[in-house]
Amino acid sequence: MTDLRTDDPAASDLATFRVEATRFLDDNATLKAEASAFVWGQGPDDPSLFEEVDREAEKLALAESQAWRAKKYDAGFGWIDGPVEWGGRGLSRQHARAFAELESRYEVPTQGFFTIGLGMVAPTIADHARPEVAAELLPKMYRGDIVGCQLFSEPGAGSDLASLQMRAERDGEEWVVTGQKVWTSGAHYSDIGEVICRTDPDLPKHKGLTGFVVDMRAPGVEVRPLRQMTGGANFNEVFFNEVRVPDSWRLGEVNDGWRVALTTLMNERAAIGGGPRGGGFTRLREMTRHFGLADDPLVRQKLIDIYVNGMVLRMNNDRAMAALKRGQLPGPELSGAKLLLTENMRRTSDFVSTVLGPRLTADTGEWGTFSWSGYVLGMPGMAIAGGSDQVLRNILGERVLGLPKEPGIDTTSPFKDLKVGTQRSDD
Ligand SMILES: Cc1cc2nc3c(=O)[nH]c(=O)nc-3n(C[C@H](O)[C@H](O)[C@H](O)COP(=O)(O)OP(=O)(O)OC[C@H]3O[C@@H](n4cnc5c(N)ncnc54)[C@H](O)[C@@H]3O)c2cc1C
Repeated sequence: MTDLRTDDPAASDLATFRVEATRFLDDNATLKAEASAFVWGQGPDDPSLFEEVDREAEKLALAESQAWRAKKYDAGFGWIDGPVEWGGRGLSRQHARAFAELESRYEVPTQGFFTIGLGMVAPTIADHARPEVAAELLPKMYRGDIVGCQLFSEPGAGSDLASLQMRAERDGEEWVVTGQKVWTSGAHYSDIGEVICRTDPDLPKHKGLTGFVVDMRAPGVEVRPLRQMTGGANFNEVFFNEVRVPDSWRLGEVNDGWRVALTTLMNERAAIGGGPRGGGFTRLREMTRHFGLADDPLVRQKLIDIYVNGMVLRMNNDRAMAALKRGQLPGPELSGAKLLLTENMRRTSDFVSTVLGPRLTADTGEWGTFSWSGYVLGMPGMAIAGGSDQVLRNILGERVLGLPKEPGIDTTSPFKDLKVGTQRSDD
């Protein structure tokens, strides 16, 4: 039972909050079985990095996720550290983290539908939208009433995002948006999107861009699914054909969209860094035991490599969190976090491929074997989304190690005054 005795008012407040949160969770969700109770062959066995459900099942899952968000929001746990004037509760980041930690102990509907909207789009709206637009959209987003997506990448602009070509032309109090985006995760179930457009093609590439919030149901928006090698279709091509966007939904100043994009990208890496990790070490260890490979020196070496690097990743994230707690912005550790995560995912992918062999390619129905194919096939996407491994290495090399800059198209870097780890590519 929580001990409420303390002389520190902030700690006491946090302790009271934890009691209140636990009561809410006890009343509305089921406590998960203890993690230590993992037994090979029991429980769910799907470690996939992307959910592979058909559109009907996805709709049902979204409805459940939205219902859970609404319930949390109405009870005061939907946006714990958000400003009160925008529907938040006005408590500290520590309170928000305490709730997240408690919630992770319960069986609740997946909150993956909101990763991009709340992890990346909402912070950008909070920083760059007009106050009345933020006041209109943010409570709906945090309550789960509307879902957001990120419309940045184009067929000719990914790592080199500033090369994007989608046009927005001003027409009175509106903008007319025409062009194509690609790889837009969740566009098919999103209500709004954050889009970066070219508003002045005569300015240098980082300077002629402007950000907007767009209504994904507006006339002229067409979403077409893209099927990935895992079999699912999590992302899409999105075509804009003369879509009208009110000027009031502009993010930031005209032609200052690169700054808006950087806000989103800075949050993107943190959102992915804290995202799905897959199997967990115990599961891998039990897999080697189950297949009689626990004494194989090469298998043991690969396994311990995953463990050690997992610890490094955790310590690195703790260091970033400690900096945030002290009110400082984390520096290189945030830039390295996504790279460390995907590198360990690649080790895990190689490890399960070694241990499972042909069981990965043919489904024999055996528990905990073929299901790993979703992880192995999804892994390469994780190493590309939100800044590819190569681009992150460039950033670390140049900005942390001070190595010479890669040759680029532009003669001057638009990043010279920015913190480490905010750009997809630096050329
Ligand atoms: C699962 C997934 C989800 C995604 N979701 C979204 C989304 O919701 N919204 C959105 O806007 N985008 C999304 N993307 C797109 C993603 O941001 C881009 O794929 C990514 O930025 C890379 O761009 P690209 O695909 O154009 O590849 P490119 O930039 O063409 O890169 C191709 C290859 O060249 C390498 N490369 C590029 N530049 C350099 C360089 N300077 N130095 C060394 N190597 C380099 C890259 O590492 C890569 O291996 C998603 C991608 C994935 C895989």
